[in-house]
Amino acid sequence: MNDEFKTLKKFDAGNGREGFLHSLPELETQGVGKISRLPISIRIVLESVLRNCDGKKVRGKDVETLARWDAKKPANEEIPFVVARIVLQDFTGVPLVVDLAAMRSAVKRLGGDPKIIEPLVPVDLVVDHSVQVDFFGSAQALRLNLEMEFKRNRERYQFLKWGQQAFKTFQLIPPGIGIVHQVNLEYLAKGVLSQKSEIRGQRSEIFYPDTLVGTDSHTTMINGLGVVGWGVGGIEAEAGMLGQPVYFLTPEVVGVHLSGRLKEGVTATDLVLHITQMLRAQKVVGKFVEFYGEGAASLPVPDRATIGNMSPEYGATIGYFPVDQESVNYLRATGRSDEQCAAFENYFRAQKMFGMPRKGEIDYSVDLELDLGQVQPGVAGPKRPQDRINLPELGQTFRSLLQKPVKDGGYGIENVDLDAKHPVQLNGSAPQDDEMASTDNRNQGIEPGDERNKVEMVANRPTPDTAREFKASTADPFRHGRSEIGHGSVLIAAITSCTNTSNPSVMLAAGLLAKKAVDRGMRVDPAVKTSLAPGSRVVSDYLTKTGLQPYLDQLGFNLVGYGCTTCIGNSGPLHPKIEKAIHDYDLVAASVLSGNRNFEARVHQNIKANFLMSPPLVVAFALAGRVDLDLTKEPIGKDKDGKETFLRDLWPSLKEVRDAMQSALTPEVFRRLYRDFANQNPKWNEIPSSTGDIYQWDEKSDYIHEPPFFKDFSMEVGKIENIVGARALGIFGDSVTTDHISPAGAIKASSPAGQYLMSRGIKPEDFNSYGSRRGNDLVMTRGTFANVRIKNLMVPGTEGGVTKYYGPATGPAASTSGQQMSIYDAAMKYQKDNVPLVILAGHEYGTGSSRDWAAKGTRLLGVKAVIAASFERIHRSNLVGMGVLPLQFPEGTNAQTLNLDGSEVFSITGLSDSIEPGKTVTLEIQRKNGGRDSVPVRLRIDTPIEIDYYRHGGILQFVLRQLLASK
Ligand code: SF4
Repeated sequence: MNDEFKTLKKFDAGNGREGFLHSLPELETQGVGKISRLPISIRIVLESVLRNCDGKKVRGKDVETLARWDAKKPANEEIPFVVARIVLQDFTGVPLVVDLAAMRSAVKRLGGDPKIIEPLVPVDLVVDHSVQVDFFGSAQALRLNLEMEFKRNRERYQFLKWGQQAFKTFQLIPPGIGIVHQVNLEYLAKGVLSQKSEIRGQRSEIFYPDTLVGTDSHTTMINGLGVVGWGVGGIEAEAGMLGQPVYFLTPEVVGVHLSGRLKEGVTATDLVLHITQMLRAQKVVGKFVEFYGEGAASLPVPDRATIGNMSPEYGATIGYFPVDQESVNYLRATGRSDEQCAAFENYFRAQKMFGMPRKGEIDYSVDLELDLGQVQPGVAGPKRPQDRINLPELGQTFRSLLQKPVKDGGYGIENVDLDAKHPVQLNGSAPQDDEMASTDNRNQGIEPGDERNKVEMVANRPTPDTAREFKASTADPFRHGRSEIGHGSVLIAAITSCTNTSNPSVMLAAGLLAKKAVDRGMRVDPAVKTSLAPGSRVVSDYLTKTGLQPYLDQLGFNLVGYGCTTCIGNSGPLHPKIEKAIHDYDLVAASVLSGNRNFEARVHQNIKANFLMSPPLVVAFALAGRVDLDLTKEPIGKDKDGKETFLRDLWPSLKEVRDAMQSALTPEVFRRLYRDFANQNPKWNEIPSSTGDIYQWDEKSDYIHEPPFFKDFSMEVGKIENIVGARALGIFGDSVTTDHISPAGAIKASSPAGQYLMSRGIKPEDFNSYGSRRGNDLVMTRGTFANVRIKNLMVPGTEGGVTKYYGPATGPAASTSGQQMSIYDAAMKYQKDNVPLVILAGHEYGTGSSRDWAAKGTRLLGVKAVIAASFERIHRSNLVGMGVLPLQFPEGTNAQTLNLDGSEVFSITGLSDSIEPGKTVTLEIQRKNGGRDSVPVRLRIDTPIEIDYYRHGGILQFVLRQLLASK
């Protein structure tokens, strides 16, 4: 056990347990920083740095740097953060499990025991992103949607099922159980973890805070429970899984002092939308936010979690709430054992980190104030989560946006009757193939520069399979009836997203509002696609126990699934006649949802105005059927006697919500619903899957394929050597995004990936997206640099993945004019001749979401170095993690200032085994006219451990060799 700073101390873990911890107060006593003034979130990271300080992966210097964190001037240093566990969702999780499976195959080929490949920290994968709202408004919706989900995802699920039985530290939560972050909050999170260890010659137990990273941006939700965690890309998660640190820059910490209490009628959703708007304006991107003060103490954990969840929307790395009695109470109320709760409380007390800090106790980089009593009911939209609108102003705002020019954020509708309504007869007929296909094609579109979550969304869009399934299905997915729609009509009303469905107060409020509406005989218009998709079955349990679910059902909010659904854009198709009316009349129709993002096309391709709001408001707007009104003054509709009914007539009081909550939530429910998952899901059990330690790769599969990272793998570590005689595969300008490098959306039939899939007998309509084929390197490598919008300056005037092929550096095949071809084809020709490749780029190379395939694909194309004016932080580390050398031009230099057109031959000299992080090496350029130039470039290998990763050919190879050597 590392103990460089002699901080290991005994403590009473409660329930008769004694354990050790790395004491932060002791570190302070030793004079290593004023730790008691540090934000709690920083202290939690510091504990990890201290505990993992081994002189190599984590150095003493890292401990000191963080312990001496200066609120007003945080050092711009990388922190090596070794997390306690990892969470994955199914879409981003599949490629990670593929890599683990490939490592096992490699070990077997080397004659070793494949079982040495195990995640070194617990990994939980929750299958939640694949369910789509195909069926709604009926008691059958849950079953039918689940059936569709299993049909669509069978191949991926078979593979995951193999992983479930093959890895001991890998837990899989099958589909139909819940949403990753809600499951994390209600079940997976422990607050504090422990491990048996040899300490001072004795077998002891060492305790440490629960921390994690997840491959989903809203992993931040868990910060509501006092657990530090955030979303990362696949390679960082893979590194964390294999016991390697996740690196991030010492952050500024914004302290938000919360005072007062929320007023009657104001929900946690209203609060989070307020905070999102407030913090966006404060520019908290890349910072930690920590909430504290008596107002924070007054918020129950579900409210804190709702606020933590939307950190990506306000831009912060995390939105953290320190651990206090409320956190312990939550663990207890959700069925965690007494032992666990005691250890959690005692640990944080021993570390002097228990209790909500008061004003002045902690030094923050920026101090902000929020009086909870000032928060008003509101919604956010129609395009961005930070655009909050007070409820009374919604109608007026929407109407003004309709006419406002597009360039000013409006819809630019001129000279039409904004109040016109268009009749639609919804006869329930299933959509025709051509109608579905055209919708699908539109849904598959993606623009470059999209955010991380859009990857997930596009990957899950309805595929043309859906159309066929619908046709074959005897069930009717739509509701019948006559309706009239126009601008501002609500066409989707979704109670969705872990952001809100984890919060019983707003879910019960939705049920209570529905009850009052049904009691008055009110109904929802058939044009509104209504859905209820909670993030766990606990919600159904309490909605059933309180007798509220039947009222939601009567308004069409039947259960459609336990998963992301509308929140990730899996809202499913609208009735074709509605789609036609939207199209024919160019309608700005609306969705109302309790989700967290609403940029255009996220919720549904044809719904332009998307408003985020609390679940009870979702029900209210579904009843109103439109958004162009002031619900605080205008009636929602009429009751059965024709009497006008207002929101105030339906809105439940705080007391009604509390009473319902008390009667419904018990720890036993959580314990019962969070056990024995497989047996609770017969469909999962029906999926056939291979067993054994080694995955039997199926050459027939076009979704799962063994990646070649360990092909020809041996224990011999390569030498770091100069790169000689390289050709440029691409020259790019500034701000090339990871989506340019590895697109997630549609696969064009004419692209190398499309051609490949067709050669495998797959029709274009069945291509699905790049995102869904991330388990197949053969597709993903062909898709690298294949974004239709990427501009390779080697072929001026073109867009898409094309380049010029110049052949080897010397010899008869060397060319000075170059032959235009796809980037993939050129890369393969170069590979055949063993020609190393480089990419040249401008500023912010690899910006946008962290995407593992952007680095993996680069490597598999044969690129040895990327030389850029500057790098996005995570993509840079991903390149190193995949054995690709990042190099940085000196200030003011780039391919254009050097007059490079791609016909040159490049060498990188000064590389050797003894290189140091940040060293300057030389880029030698040989021009076709014989001229030579040399440019000093900075090695963007930033830490000693990265040198090791690079020497080994990448992080996976590094870890694999370490594991093989230790056995
Ligand atoms: S419900 Fe929404 S926020 Fe939650 S995991 Fe799914 S997509 Fe992400």
